[in-house]
Amino acid sequence: MNRLSRTILKEIRKITNNSSALLHEPIFLGKENNYLKDCIKSTFVSTSGKYIQIFENKVKKFTGAKHAIAVVNGTVAIQMALRVLGVKTDDEILIPSLTFVGTANAVRHCNSIPHFVDSESFSLGICPKNLENHLKKISIKKNNNLYNKITGRRIFAVIPVHVFGHITNMEKIKKIANKFKLKVLEDAAESLGSFYNNKHAGTFGHAGILSFNANKVITTGGGGMILTNNSSTAKKARHLITTAKLNHPWKFIHNEVGWNYRMPNINAALGCAQIEKINTILKYKKNITKKYQKAFKSNNKITFFNQPNGCSSNYWLNVIRIKFKRISERDKLLNFLNKKKIQCRPVWNLLHKLPMFRKCPRSKLNISEQLEKELITLPSSPLYGKGK
Ligand SMILES: *Cc1c(COP(=O)(O)O)cnc(C)c1O
Repeated sequence: MNRLSRTILKEIRKITNNSSALLHEPIFLGKENNYLKDCIKSTFVSTSGKYIQIFENKVKKFTGAKHAIAVVNGTVAIQMALRVLGVKTDDEILIPSLTFVGTANAVRHCNSIPHFVDSESFSLGICPKNLENHLKKISIKKNNNLYNKITGRRIFAVIPVHVFGHITNMEKIKKIANKFKLKVLEDAAESLGSFYNNKHAGTFGHAGILSFNANKVITTGGGGMILTNNSSTAKKARHLITTAKLNHPWKFIHNEVGWNYRMPNINAALGCAQIEKINTILKYKKNITKKYQKAFKSNNKITFFNQPNGCSSNYWLNVIRIKFKRISERDKLLNFLNKKKIQCRPVWNLLHKLPMFRKCPRSKLNISEQLEKELITLPSSPLYGKGK
């Protein structure tokens, strides 16, 4: 293998202090055992119990969101938030092609259609300029709604994704959304602990979502959260995820087809212990980032991706950029590192190339194509930054 690959391997091993390294494993530093035992003892391990509300309140306090609704995972959080914001069958939803497949799946679960837009190198999120130019070109306003001139379908919302915890330029995206009458739902699945001008990810748009999958910053085993500052949006979301059941001490009255998407109490118990240690976890993660920054600073073939201006990022996954000419060169490096038991990953395969999304509408995706070829994520488990 070439010198570059060996350098990367050596630096990662130094930083992770290990011969093998996982991409992002959870860390349990607090009262996880106590809360889980207490939850089991209470027998309330399912959709009712005290930990759900306690966890929601802790998330509200940490993020500054007025409302937080706990659900079973981040994907259904997107699906429910879109529903509540008013998505209709066959609406188009603007999303980056460079995101986890869950974003696009959730759009399809609403019977709506992903409409892919390009990303920018600056934040790795949706490029505001591309978004605006694209909409100018392909859309038309009618009765306060936006339509795609080519497909005839309504364009309902935009979902900015804060990739790897770096916050997209929300001021510009919101301005464009306002101008074109679009709803804004932030996919902040990866960005718990990321702030832009001291405002937490997921609190800029009409709604936002978080994920607590085991590989995210904190975990509930599986879980997600809908964030919003709008009380009617919050109320509707809670209703929909609770089988659309009307409040009554003993009658079962449901007024529409709802879902059973509530987070179980036992998962929330884990979440409570996790979020109590969020600042320690974020500190450990910052330690790792500092080491990677230093390790790759003087290497002119490797660019460490730094948080965009104004953003205090959680650096969910640390990422480097290497100017490969072909994807096969990237894959050669990844093969080498993974064979050495170092979990490095490419970014996701661009979604517009996947078979189920190939026919979806899209803008030019030149920057996304370039980023797909050049980005490599590095082992970023909080464990590797412990106590240093
Ligand atoms: C993890 C993730 C999701 C989905 O969250 P789950 O809890 O795994 O369903 C959605 N979008 C992005 C960008 C993610 O990273």
